[in-house]
Amino acid sequence: KLFEDCGFAAPLMSAIAKQGYEKPTPIQCQALPIVLSGRDIIGIAKTGSGKTAAFVLPMIVHIMDQPELGKEEGPIGVICAPTRELAHQIYLEAKKFSKPYNIKVSAVYGGASKHEQFKELKAGCEIVVATPGRLIDLLKMKALKMLRATYLVIDEADRMFDLGFEPQVRSIVGQIRPDRQTLLFSATMPYKVERLAREILTDPIRVTV
Ligand code: AMP
Repeated sequence: KLFEDCGFAAPLMSAIAKQGYEKPTPIQCQALPIVLSGRDIIGIAKTGSGKTAAFVLPMIVHIMDQPELGKEEGPIGVICAPTRELAHQIYLEAKKFSKPYNIKVSAVYGGASKHEQFKELKAGCEIVVATPGRLIDLLKMKALKMLRATYLVIDEADRMFDLGFEPQVRSIVGQIRPDRQTLLFSATMPYKVERLAREILTDPIRVTV
């Protein structure tokens, strides 16, 4: 299986090549066609599997497919991660593939200036990578709207639950339109994660690596 088979446009193919990604990893092989077809997915995969690109690459395609809407309507892609370290990693990966398209990525998490993040979100972006608590704070402050959000990723869902973020995750999901595409990634699938997946995903396809 090759990245060429995914039908990515030339700028994305060169960004992939620039990263030195020669061929998709097993999670990418399984997930990319499903996510690119618009289906919801449960990806059971750990860090190191290449799961980030499995949700970032189709997110770029999704964003480029959207009609031109004002940045003031909020991000199109929303990624929730349990820790700032993970959010930052995802941010870096998303930036690499957004660059050729001038897609703006913002990262918001605790431990960094809320005021700066407020200003950045107010200026508008297409992708926001966030830890749940900080995203909720910024939503309450009306730093961003969720009117254009149609691509939602919950990464490391099991970790999210371990850290007690279930209410925050539910609150965020509840603020995003139900006709979105939803992707949930988790290293393990305990009962609570299964239950959340059942509630927030529509007819998902499950892939395991
Ligand atoms: P992740 O599991 O998303 O944290 O990715 C783990 C590492 O694999 C990161 O350093 C990625 O840059 C790298 N990576 C992701 N996809 C590929 C690929 N197709 N080929 C080579 N390296 C990759």
